[in-house]
Amino acid sequence: MRRALVVGGSIGGLFAGNLLAKSGWDVTVAERTRGPLSGRGAGIVTHPALLDALGRAGVPAGTPLGVSVAGRRVLARDGSILGEHPYPQILTSWARLHSLLEDAFDPARIERGRVATVVRQGTASATVHFADGGMIEADLVVAADGIRSVLRAQLLPEVRATYAGYVAWRGLAEEAALSPAAREAIFGHFAFGLPEGEQMLGYPVAGAGEAISAGHRRYNFVWYRPAPPEELGRLQTDGFGRQHPNGIPPHLLRPEIVAEMRAAAESLLPAAFAEVVAITAQPFVQPIMDLEVPEVAHGRVALIGDAAYVARPHCGMGVTKAAMDAMSLSDALQGADVPAALTRWAPERVATGRALVQHARHLGAYMQASRITAEEAAMAERYRSPVSVMRETAVPPILEL
Ligand SMILES: Cc1cc2nc3c(=O)[nH]c(=O)nc-3n(C[C@H](O)[C@H](O)[C@H](O)COP(=O)(O)OP(=O)(O)OC[C@H]3O[C@@H](n4cnc5c(N)ncnc54)[C@H](O)[C@@H]3O)c2cc1C
Repeated sequence: MRRALVVGGSIGGLFAGNLLAKSGWDVTVAERTRGPLSGRGAGIVTHPALLDALGRAGVPAGTPLGVSVAGRRVLARDGSILGEHPYPQILTSWARLHSLLEDAFDPARIERGRVATVVRQGTASATVHFADGGMIEADLVVAADGIRSVLRAQLLPEVRATYAGYVAWRGLAEEAALSPAAREAIFGHFAFGLPEGEQMLGYPVAGAGEAISAGHRRYNFVWYRPAPPEELGRLQTDGFGRQHPNGIPPHLLRPEIVAEMRAAAESLLPAAFAEVVAITAQPFVQPIMDLEVPEVAHGRVALIGDAAYVARPHCGMGVTKAAMDAMSLSDALQGADVPAALTRWAPERVATGRALVQHARHLGAYMQASRITAEEAAMAERYRSPVSVMRETAVPPILEL
């Protein structure tokens, strides 16, 4: 039986773990975090490829994933409807997807609290070393350790994630706490508000305990706002003056920063969205990043998910791309020698990853605090209209590979 070690037990790692186990591999998943991950995260849009991948990973067909909407709408600042676009979609959450994938995987094969530090490759196997002094040898290593992947940093030290010049404020508001007017305006829709140079979007998701009945759901919002690097530094500085360059934990956000953000929502956003922001108990802020690698196959090591490519969230493809990476990887490995199979697998994933990063960069160009290229300026014009925002956001793009 061929042995696979998956480093990282988030969405990408658990897709790979499940799919490889189903095709006969002896799989271990090593995850840095000791406790459960499932309590975290916010909303996730689904696409047909994600639903296929869940089925292949062992999640039974018909398992409820979240809340369905029939279409999109854009609200003007005064609350009037600027446009509508039919686009049925199921909106789920990171926690829901993660727990379904975890339930599908043999719990005895997840090693928690294991921090990978380095991978060493010989001719017949690869060995990952851990911070606890241990090591695991395998025929295949899947690096699913996210945007700050240590395995990628070892294999491709020149690659860096770059800050796009804007942030996303995010959070979840309880449906029951929303006024009837706000519910009417946005709750049944994937809705947008478009203040100058910014974008607010929101959609309903399941509430506590995965409840999807009316009154018990939540509204997930994502508000993109330009922030030059010095402003990002300010947002990510806690009350003790400490900077958190890799992301500030929500509970360390300074109250004055959150108050400023809520005041800006009041002055810039349609009232329904301002209300969502006002009643969200624990908003959080994330810098928007781009990450690309020149190669995803390195001997017996495959880079997947955010360890390889991070596209800005505008096409909502982060989770789906990680699932597609894992599906194509397990297909490519059927019966083949590992390094040769990875070499054959890689070109299509590189082309897809690059094209996605580029497309998402174009969709987000109009929110960048400063624009650097003529192409970005042209794309900023092209993708800022309500019609293109409704048609292109959180929709799988047709990529030119
Ligand atoms: C807790 C959590 C919540 C998230 N919530 C959302 C969300 O609400 N919306 C959204 O769009 N995206 C969210 N994401 C990101 C989303 O999962 C990814 O963008 C996408 O699914 C690709 O996932 P990934 O598995 O490649 O990377 P990630 O999800 O980043 O997972 C990487 C995993 O590797 C582990 N890891 C890192 N370094 C090591 C190491 N050295 N050794 C062992 N393990 C390591 C991390 O703990 C993590 O579990 C979340 C990620 C996490 C970890």
